[in-house]
Amino acid sequence: MTEPKIEIEEEINESPRTNGFDPSIYDKIVEGCRLSVRMASQNEWRQAEIISRCRAPNGSMKFYVHYVDCNRRLDEWVQADMLDITTLRMPQKGGKKGAHLKEESRDSNETDAKRGGRKRKIPLVPMDDMKQEPSDMAPPMPTVSSGSTPSLRGSMSMVGHSEDAMTRIRNVECIELGRSRIQPWYFSPYPQQLTSLDCIYICEFCLKYLKSKTTLKRHMVGFITDISLNKT
Ligand SMILES: [Zn+2]
Repeated sequence: MTEPKIEIEEEINESPRTNGFDPSIYDKIVEGCRLSVRMASQNEWRQAEIISRCRAPNGSMKFYVHYVDCNRRLDEWVQADMLDITTLRMPQKGGKKGAHLKEESRDSNETDAKRGGRKRKIPLVPMDDMKQEPSDMAPPMPTVSSGSTPSLRGSMSMVGHSEDAMTRIRNVECIELGRSRIQPWYFSPYPQQLTSLDCIYICEFCLKYLKSKTTLKRHMVGFITDISLNKT
């Protein structure tokens, strides 16, 4: 009886999760599109914007989505079957915002911050860390100070070039600093070869980043030796 084995392989390798839709329909869902997406953590459907997409070896699509009116740290990769294709709206060309995007323009903290006023709605922060961070403007990690720091809740339609688009996607899975493991909320400009790792190891003394525990240990030994040599 080899049949069950074949079936399992098919499940893994052959059948993309498409809710019964023709997989090619997902080619239409490009960056900037909006549609309802099932938010995994909340088990509810929310309006979302497609930030990026990629195709797995089995042909199934994954989409990086930003939930409208939610903090950008809730942005996530979702499988195609989390998307409600019947609600799909294509991105508007030319930067002019349509009526349905009006709500989102209020959502951009960049323009609000420039005017000095923040009249945004209280964001939906469904996580239990609400207490620690009542304001969505305070990132948990030091961010690189530069004019190109992406808005935390902005809309893809307001972004002009791909470099900005890249910084909208959370790229670091996890960091280890001292005895703590921390999952970042936002993009961080680490070298690309490090962002593919499960974890980036950071020296708690000099904040150098390393790709493994072994290299961190080696680095720390050198560091401690340096200190003792300087003292004598
Ligand atoms: Zn160090």
